[in-house]
Amino acid sequence: VKILDISVPVSPGLPVWPGDPHIELDRYRAIAKGDASNDSRLACSVHCGTHVDAPGHFVENGSTVDQLPLDILVGRAWVAEVLTADVISSEILENLAIPSETIRLLFKTKNSTLWADPRHAFKSDFVALSADAASWIVAHGIRLVGIDYLSIQMFDDPEPLTHSILLKAGVVVVEGLNLMDVRPGSYRLVCLPLKLSGSDGAPSRAVLIEE
Ligand SMILES: [Zn+2]
Repeated sequence: VKILDISVPVSPGLPVWPGDPHIELDRYRAIAKGDASNDSRLACSVHCGTHVDAPGHFVENGSTVDQLPLDILVGRAWVAEVLTADVISSEILENLAIPSETIRLLFKTKNSTLWADPRHAFKSDFVALSADAASWIVAHGIRLVGIDYLSIQMFDDPEPLTHSILLKAGVVVVEGLNLMDVRPGSYRLVCLPLKLSGSDGAPSRAVLIEE
């Protein structure tokens, strides 16, 4: 069985959303300093690196990441390749030949090449979904959607429409994936966000298993 890691490495150099706290991962005990063990602490936004958005991210009193159904987070997923577009619209989705039974959909775009350098400066003109693409996803019964940069929505959207359309419909949003080494097609997805009580999101390890 081949397991593809589609998560990005969490480290202080990883780009974060502008205005979000930078990632801190440091030792508070160190064998090199005479302590009995090495122990580290992590401080970061719950939306850092590869992570899951819960409905409560954009919907007041929406469900939280610890409440997301595991049967959405684990199961067959379709990786669609959209390498030339700057924005993924419903028109593009119509022409991608996404299998009709798809309920988990991941987009591999030119964003993934940015992760060749996991310490690159945040890029604001990343590829993301338009609001009509979000509506298309809801209308087609998709329950989980993933993208290979830090937001499912374009950076300069005046309103959070893409996020709210998806999250109000209960679609699980996975952001910050690295699909650079993944060919389009069908896989088994395992994406398990940390069980953070009451949180609007959580960092997650995500893998694709070739079937
Ligand atoms: Zn997020």
